[in-house]
Parts: sequence; structure tokens; C-alpha cells
Amino acid sequence: MDNCYLKEWDAKVIKAEDNRIILDQTAFYPRSGGVECDKGFIIQNGKKVPVKEVIKQGNEIIHILEDKIERGDVHCSIDWERRYRLMRMHTAAHVLSAVLYKEENALITGNKIDVNKSRIDFNLKEFNKERILELVNKANQLIEEKRNVKIYYLPRDKAMEIEGIVKLASKLPPSIEKLRIVEIEGIDIQADGGCHVKNTQEIGKIVFLKAENKGKGNRRIYFTVE
Ligand SMILES: [Zn+2]
Repeated sequence: MDNCYLKEWDAKVIKAEDNRIILDQTAFYPRSGGVECDKGFIIQNGKKVPVKEVIKQGNEIIHILEDKIERGDVHCSIDWERRYRLMRMHTAAHVLSAVLYKEENALITGNKIDVNKSRIDFNLKEFNKERILELVNKANQLIEEKRNVKIYYLPRDKAMEIEGIVKLASKLPPSIEKLRIVEIEGIDIQADGGCHVKNTQEIGKIVFLKAENKGKGNRRIYFTVE
């Protein structure tokens, strides 16, 4: 949550049930918020066990492994190539969503961030490919401006005062008093639990792949980063 660049760390397995384990501390991102999960390895006594999937159940982050491991000390290592692409894709999605909102008043209705291909769903009446390409271009111009991406926390009431994140924040249960904020300087500010790059420069370039008309104002864009 506080260091998206942490690749390796020591931990303790506090629960082990078959090939599903819970750690006392983890940097593995569980599949959530439309973003794919991390993979990697958990090493115990020299045995290197691949992490197949990471999911969230309630407040617990469950690591589903290729093999069983026991309770006790382990070393964890994230598949960094995969994770870094997910980070670039995720920050790219925020920039593109911000442009869609600012330029077309389009509301984002869903998203799926994956390693090779991501998509954003949004509401928009007028829809043509040339306009979409223009908007992707605009997003790329912003990315080239090397904007910083800051992650910090705000008390719920302070966060709610910020325009644009109110809608999202109001969906969170009132029990959450502190919100994690992801701010792309001058572009976008969101209450968000995901992993992001430190500067838009790291995204590279958004490449438009495909647009789909899902009917009733529902549109879908597929993109990748390179
Ligand atoms: Zn996000």
C-alpha cells in the first residue's frame, strides 16, 4: 500500500490450509478493483513454490500456491515483470479515464486491468473511432509531461471535499476513516487501493487496440502500454 516498488520481503505463514496460505505481511496484490493479481514465489527452506493466484476474502489476502507449504518463516518474491506492467497499465487507465471524463463527461462504469490488454467501460452518447484516437492522443500528451504520481492518506471527511473522488468515496463503508489517495499531479485524484508507477513517464505510451459498442451508451475501449 505504501511502497509499490517492494519486490522481496520476509514473512511468516500464519495460516496454511492445503495450498492456500495467509501471511503476517504481504505485498502481493490480490485480484480486486478490476485489477489482476500478482504472481511470484514463496520460498521456504530452499523450496521455491510458485504463487498461482492471490485473492481477497473479507479482510484476508489468500495466496493460492502450486504446492503446500507449512506455517513458519518464508521469503516472498513478486514476479516483477508482471507487476510492473500491471502498474503501468493501471496508471495509464487513470490518465485515460480522466481524459474521457474531462473531455466528454464520460462516466467510467467498469474496468479490467491486465498484463497484455486492459479495458475501460464508460458511458458516452456520441461515439466514433477518430474521436477515441484523439482522446488516447491527449492522454499520451499528458503522460509525456512526466507528471508525478503521489500516494497518501486523507481522513474520510477531507477526502470527500475533493471534487471527483466524492462519488467513489461515498461508496466506501463508513467504517473506513482514512482513505488512500492516488493523485496524478494535475490530471486525476482518486481513492484507490492499487499499485501505480511514480511518474507518468514510466507508463511509456498508451496504444489503442479496439473499441466496442455495448449498446445504450455503453462503450468499451481496449488498450495496452508499450
Ligand atoms: Zn485505480
